Amino acid sequence: MDERALIRRYFSRSAPLAGERSAIIVGIGDDGAVLRPEPGYDLVVAIDTLVEGTHFLRDMPSAAVGHRCLAVNLSDVAAMAAEPRWAVLALAIPEVDEAWLSGFADGLFALADRYNVALVGGDTVRGPLAATVTIHGQARPGQVVQRRGAQPGDGVWVTGSPGDAVAGRLLLMDPDKKTGHDELRQELIRRFLFPEPRVLEGQQLSGLATAMLDVSDGLHDDLGKLLAASNVGAEMDIGCLPLSTALQTLCPRDAIEHALTGGDDYELCFTVPAAAESSLLKAAESWPVSVTRIGTIIAGEGARWSLDGRPYRVPDSLWQHF
Ligand code: ADP
Ligand code: MG
Repeated sequence: MDERALIRRYFSRSAPLAGERSAIIVGIGDDGAVLRPEPGYDLVVAIDTLVEGTHFLRDMPSAAVGHRCLAVNLSDVAAMAAEPRWAVLALAIPEVDEAWLSGFADGLFALADRYNVALVGGDTVRGPLAATVTIHGQARPGQVVQRRGAQPGDGVWVTGSPGDAVAGRLLLMDPDKKTGHDELRQELIRRFLFPEPRVLEGQQLSGLATAMLDVSDGLHDDLGKLLAASNVGAEMDIGCLPLSTALQTLCPRDAIEHALTGGDDYELCFTVPAAAESSLLKAAESWPVSVTRIGTIIAGEGARWSLDGRPYRVPDSLWQHF
């Protein structure tokens, strides 16, 4: 199969053309895509690369790889409280493996369709397996929520149950380990393979959250980035961590550590002033995911965790790229 046939077969799907929202003027098939954001919106751009061996495992289903390379980008746009619109994909593959490619495309498009995101271009080359997606989103001026902006007194909140994904990854890497609880085990593995970006939740946090980011490298590490950007510290309560039943059942000894340092969660961590707390809880009533208050912003720097009133030392993160 030549490159053109491959692109046509796996990556050109009929995307919504210039319609009411005048989105795509020129899509896949030309030298460049021509896109038209809605009048009055700013562009929000993010990029993430997944490299085999570092960000995903060789024996992971390819649908999970396709899902992940878009999900991590959607998660970045969500963390800006913006709306994702258009994606481009640079894919390096060692050989043309049709079963792998078709699973990859299925995983990617299933997620893209759910959030109305169009794949409008890309590049396909031979090389060590890696996938880079650039996502383009839109936001009205003033809509985005940045990492800076948290104020002393704000509550620190997190969506979902951090720690599940790393537990799922460890279970996947050790398939012979006897754990019982088959359903809970599958739930954790699914949380690693198919992380759900909090796209709609992120947009609804515009105007409520003072600062926000998505949790990819572990809750403690990522919260540290938000605090540094906002020039504040935080008092955090281990007892408030939303540990899932699956995590507590299958990893009773490591649950807290996984939640703080595991990574790959793609949950949102954000700060909300006390005055906006009831509006947050009201908005969150319709969310398919929980939100939990886990701490309070204070003057100072860094996150101080405590358990039952005693300081809790956070172990070093599992993830360090360099
Ligand atoms: P060029 O040589 O001009 O860069 P290509 O042959 O690389 O063109 O790509 C042809 C068309 O297919 C372009 O519109 C490009 O955006 C699109 N394309 C290539 N690879 C992918 C991919 N993996 N996913 C989506 N679109 C792709
Ligand atoms: Mg090209």
